[in-house]
Parts: sequence; C-alpha cells; structure tokens
Amino acid sequence: MTTAKPTTIGILGAGQLARMLALAGLPLGLRFVTLDPAPDACAAALSTRIIGDYGDREKLERFAGMVDVVTYEFENVPAESVGYLAERLPVYPSPRALAVSRDRFTEKSLFVELGIPTPKFLAVDSLDGLKSAVCDIGLPAVLKTRTLGYDGKGQSVIKSDGDIDGAWASAGGAPCVLEAFVPFTREISVVAVRGRGGEARFYPVGENTHSGGILRHTVCRLGDPMQSAAEELASRLLKRFDYVGVLALELFDVGGKLTANEMAPRVHNTGHWSIEGARTSQFENHVRAAAGLPLGGTEAVCRSAMVNFIGMMPDAAEVLSVDGAHLHDYGKAAKPGRKLGHATVCGEGGGAVAAGLERLLRLTGKGLDGQ
Ligand code: AMP
Repeated sequence: MTTAKPTTIGILGAGQLARMLALAGLPLGLRFVTLDPAPDACAAALSTRIIGDYGDREKLERFAGMVDVVTYEFENVPAESVGYLAERLPVYPSPRALAVSRDRFTEKSLFVELGIPTPKFLAVDSLDGLKSAVCDIGLPAVLKTRTLGYDGKGQSVIKSDGDIDGAWASAGGAPCVLEAFVPFTREISVVAVRGRGGEARFYPVGENTHSGGILRHTVCRLGDPMQSAAEELASRLLKRFDYVGVLALELFDVGGKLTANEMAPRVHNTGHWSIEGARTSQFENHVRAAAGLPLGGTEAVCRSAMVNFIGMMPDAAEVLSVDGAHLHDYGKAAKPGRKLGHATVCGEGGGAVAAGLERLLRLTGKGLDGQ
C-alpha cells in the first residue's frame, strides 16, 4: 500500500463555482488552492486562499508552486496568466478551449468549422460596420460584445433601424458580433464531462428559462427528444480540444432543430441540479477528471429542477418547507443582478417537481416564464 500525497487542484476564481467544486472534491481527499482578487470570495473557507490579481506574476508563481493541476471557474482569466501556468502545470480544460470561448467571434467560427449550427453572425468594429451587418443579417438581430459578456451583459437586441445607434453606443466601441435573433421554441443545454483517458459522459439536458439575459431556472429533462443530437454536437467540441473536465453547450431548440448559442469550458449554472439530481454531480466529475480519477455516472437519480436566487436570498425556512428542496446559499453579499444562491427540488414524479418549482419561483418573485 502506498500513501499517495493528496492531489491539490488550483482554481482561478474563488466564487460559487469554485466553492461547489471544493465541496465536491474535499470528500475525495482532494485539496484546493484558489486565486482571486476579492478578499471575501465565497470559496474562501474551503480552500487555501491567495488574494491577488490574475495577472500578478508573483501570486501566480506562488499559486503554481502549491498545486498539481489548474482549473478555472470563469472564462475571463487573462490569456497570459493561463499561458504562464500551462508552461508549468497541466491546465484543464485546455487553454485552447478557454481562448476560443472567451471571444464570441472565434467561438462561433469554431462552431461553423465543426459543422455545429449557429445563428448567422458577423464581426462588427464600427457603427458603419454595424449598419452593413444589419443589411446582411436582417432584423431582429442581437449585438454582443466579443469578450467579457456574460449573463446578458454587453448585449442588445436590435429590432428596427432606430435601435442601431443606441445598440452601438451601449457596446461602448468594443469589438462586437452581430447575430441573427433566433425565434427559439426553448433553450436547452447539455453538460458533458471527459476524463483524462478520453471517456466522455453526458448529463440529461436541461431546459433553461432566462430573463434579462440571466438564467432563472433549469428543469432536468429525462428522455428529452433532443438528448442525442445535443450530445453529438458537444462531442465534436470535446474531441476538438482533447477536452478534460466539464463542458457546457447552450443550444436553442427551434422546432426540433438545434442551433448553438455558446459553450462554456467549465462547470455551468444549468448543471447545478446534478448535485442532488444525478448519480455524480458536475462538480465532482470535473474534479475527478482534473485529478485523473475515474468519472462517475451522469444519469439522473430523480426528477429535478433548479431555481437561481438573484439579487436577494429568500428566507431559508421558506425554501426548505418545499418538499424535496435543497438550498445552496453561496454566502455572498446581496447586490442587484448577483447570483447569491440556488435551490434544487427533487422528486419521483414530474408533477411534484413542477409544483415545488412553482413554489420556489414564487419566492423569487418570478413565474415559470421567467417574468
Ligand atoms: P448569452 O449571453 O449569449 O448566453 O445570451 C443570454 C440570453 O440571451 C440567451 O440565453 C437567450 O435567452 C438570449 N439570446 C442570446 N442570443 C440570442 C439570439 N441570437 N437570439 C435570441 N435570443 C438570444
């Protein structure tokens, strides 16, 4: 018998995703070091903390010296910092996946190259460029900044020519993409995980409701008719990057045809239901993959749905009075538009979960349609 040194996973970012990664990995004997500029970041209690900017060389060097493998909880880590770490340590998922997903134009160009359907899009660098892109793509269309956009930030819908100037002004001169507005039937996502040995597994697709560009709730769909089509599209990305870890692919379902919106090379909000709803959560499978451990089953163990708490946390007792509800309070200070926590409701039957979902949504002041 050997007494192996525990694997230490370094996470760039110490927010709620890092917190849930650590919560999943600590029981496996894994250790965590996080690097994040915020002194009060919510993964603090579960990891050895380095407080510093992602671009701070001295902090990065210290971080690299303390960990065996690096992962990240968000896409906007500076490329140079990831490059610096990748020269010294394994970085999962691959920095190539991170680089592509950071820029909506390169991401959509890759979708095209891999034959993954995506809305028609064009790069836009000026107001004149936007006007000509509108002529080409038609209206309605969505203008999105190429980088640093998430949760609907940095994007505006252009419905008529009169919206063009305002949309360009709100992008603040940043390089953008203009893409066709998709009249989707519903939004779904597939969360996939691939191990170091190349084994890939897929979670049941989530059906997602957004409002104001932010995810409000996800229903885990068992036996969804688009499951295998979604898996096939995600597989192309996994293969392309020789991917290790969790990947999420967000898709529009347009009457039974899938169109990709975006990919995320990390654990994803639409997979949070898996903590209680799947045999192995996305968080555990991500750290298993990063640490070179065998993957766990991704199948659902019950029916489930997840509700985000944005801007304010409901009363814990009220959440927990919903039969089958599990509460996750990230311990963050309340701020408008900020993801502060979530709850997952689990049950044997779809009816019980739908009833629980409705009660949880009422606590957020939103309805089933996200409004
Ligand atoms: P994103 O930041 O690209 O994930 O967009 C946030 C949300 O805005 C999506 O989940 C959709 O609800 C909506 N959205 C984004 N792009 C489009 C599009 N091309 N057509 C219709 N809705 C969109």
